[in-house]
Amino acid sequence: MNTHKVLVIEDEPALARLAQEYLTRDGFDVTTAADGERGLALARELEPAVILLDIGLPRLDGLEVCRAVRSFSDAYVIMLTARGDELDKIVGLSVGADDYLVKPFSPREVVARVRAMLRRPRTLPDGAAAARRFGELTVDPLGREVRVGERVVELTATEFDVLATLARSPNVAFSRTQLIESIWGPGWVGDERLVDVHVGRVRRKLGDDAGDPRFVRTVRGVGYRMGPG
Ligand code: CA
Repeated sequence: MNTHKVLVIEDEPALARLAQEYLTRDGFDVTTAADGERGLALARELEPAVILLDIGLPRLDGLEVCRAVRSFSDAYVIMLTARGDELDKIVGLSVGADDYLVKPFSPREVVARVRAMLRRPRTLPDGAAAARRFGELTVDPLGREVRVGERVVELTATEFDVLATLARSPNVAFSRTQLIESIWGPGWVGDERLVDVHVGRVRRKLGDDAGDPRFVRTVRGVGYRMGPG
């Protein structure tokens, strides 16, 4: 049996304890860290599947931890942001986080979000394994590899899933809701702009221009699609 490791990096002891208690009860192997440096060291050492990461942390803040984690880990990162702080959310996502939770959150919400991350399919639906080409861009779902020409593009798990979902059905316009359901599962509750942030990151990494995109096209009033303009 495979017990998933979860690392909680949070400096408020009551919150960290609550998250640990609920996640442990749900069968996860939970470790906590109360500052950014310790959290980063544990992320390297333990190789957790999911990291819950507070933004405001002593020693090294959550954004720096997230950037550093991304240089060696493909773990799902869920940022914990201060109440109602929109800026924290968006900035948090631009450093490579997969998702976010706004404080105060219920422990049940934490467990649901972690489970939703791990429920995301790592296996592929029938007919979805073939690599797709869009001009210079190649998306290989089996190897989870993306190339532009000869250059391999490093995407996070969520960024890859967004691109692969679009690439699987060329010329089909996906709404933000459809993308969320396909990637996070139908139970996900949150801000649809999450999709825009991930698409923005994918475009930057592909060297695509949002104003005149070659790969991921914006369909006004709907969402996104791949394929010729
Ligand atoms: Ca804090």
